[in-house]
Amino acid sequence: MSEVTSIELKSLMARVPSVERVMASAGLAPLVAQHGRTQALAALRRILDDWRREAQAGRASVDALDETRLAQAVGAALEERARSKVRAVFNLTGTVLHTNLGRALLPDDAVQSVVEAMTRPANLEFDLATGSRGDRDDLIDELICELTGAEAATVVNNNAAAVLLVLSALASKKEVVVSRGELVEIGGAFRIPDIMSRAGAKLREVGTTNRTHLKDYDEAIGTRTALLMKVHCSNYAISGFTKEVALNDLSVLAKSRNVPVAVDLGSGTLVDLTQWGLPRETTVRETIEGGADVVTFSGDKLLGGPQAGLIVGRRELIAKIKKHPLKRALRVGKLTLAALEPVLRLYRAPEFLRERLTTLRLLTRAADDMRHTAERVAPALQHAIGAEFAIEVEPMFSQIGSGALPVDVLPSYGLTIRLASGKRGGRQINRVEKLLRSLPRPVIGRIADDALRLDVRCLEPHDEAAFIAQLQPEQPAQANDA
Ligand SMILES: *Cc1c(COP(=O)(O)O)cnc(C)c1O
Repeated sequence: MSEVTSIELKSLMARVPSVERVMASAGLAPLVAQHGRTQALAALRRILDDWRREAQAGRASVDALDETRLAQAVGAALEERARSKVRAVFNLTGTVLHTNLGRALLPDDAVQSVVEAMTRPANLEFDLATGSRGDRDDLIDELICELTGAEAATVVNNNAAAVLLVLSALASKKEVVVSRGELVEIGGAFRIPDIMSRAGAKLREVGTTNRTHLKDYDEAIGTRTALLMKVHCSNYAISGFTKEVALNDLSVLAKSRNVPVAVDLGSGTLVDLTQWGLPRETTVRETIEGGADVVTFSGDKLLGGPQAGLIVGRRELIAKIKKHPLKRALRVGKLTLAALEPVLRLYRAPEFLRERLTTLRLLTRAADDMRHTAERVAPALQHAIGAEFAIEVEPMFSQIGSGALPVDVLPSYGLTIRLASGKRGGRQINRVEKLLRSLPRPVIGRIADDALRLDVRCLEPHDEAAFIAQLQPEQPAQANDA
């Protein structure tokens, strides 16, 4: 980069117009009207400061100081700042409950209920029957008990919070017996041994990674034992020469030794998914019937609701959990309860569940339906990415995600983008991935074997038009890529 002499620099700097003059220019007026003078002024100052820095490095062009160009730059900067950071995307990753993309989508009833709770006062902690103070769990615990067969229930912010609360309330300064095969790390720093120590409980590991026997638990129970705990192996499978103690057997032992059993179910489905041809997952009700004294599970995994952690179980244990000070710190807000209740209600009519519960609708989409979606959106996509690439409609496999049934995959359909030449083209494929990711509503796929795969399971027919529209040539996304 050429150094600028001080004389050249001085004359360059003299070309910078006064802030007042630019602010008074015709191009700035609509921006001031839209974003306010404070923001427009700050943006202009930043742009001029940047220009001065560039000028010092010998990289600035005086053309950029033209009033129209400055107004355009201010407009672009303000647009960028005004754009929401939380953005809707198209999830074409093939993972339905994608933790990084916000997991379950709420059904319409739940959305309406949240809007209502946001814009009107609600009886969050107010007993309408007596006119006295209520408990926010009262709004929802009966429904949870009805659907799970549990005696009592409470709700916190997420399942990690539920596990932390259960351990803090029931096992602080005591021991919790867990099989070495179930010392799960969920990701995002949720590891059973760490949560255990945070809760002030002592982890008593039993068995081995692949095999744990009933006698391992039996021998570990002592005067300091507060809980036996089972954790769902959400994101892995141990196969081969393995042995896990069934909940039924564990609970018989636990009763005879007078120790409760807690189960972290992870996803916690409320219905038998095999009726829709999905893989089998133990339900919360089966876990309660199997003898668990406390069960924790997520609200936004297979259940299909908002982020929440549900704790169900024996009345006296739930009462103890609710009295713990952490419960106050981990409690849910009204928006969560407003969303959770209508979702749970849907489970009362399993006949309609597949159609009304968004998560289940996505998980059970018919192959033909997905193939048609892929065929319908392919031409617009081809047009947007150019003839350098070949797009094919292909069968692929989706995952449920969020640690639900990690080894089971669902046959699906999608679009595979490769180089038309048939050559390997990692760099070019990455470029397409980036182009799609930088669209106004970013399209998120996955790259494997020099191909970009867009699984259309989560691109429902009602969203196809929006998907196609932003790929049309007059859209700015293409121009940006140049
Ligand atoms: C997902 C999961 C958690 C964490 O649940 P969040 O709702 O994400 O906090 C805890 N335990 C198991 C077994 C899980 O699968």
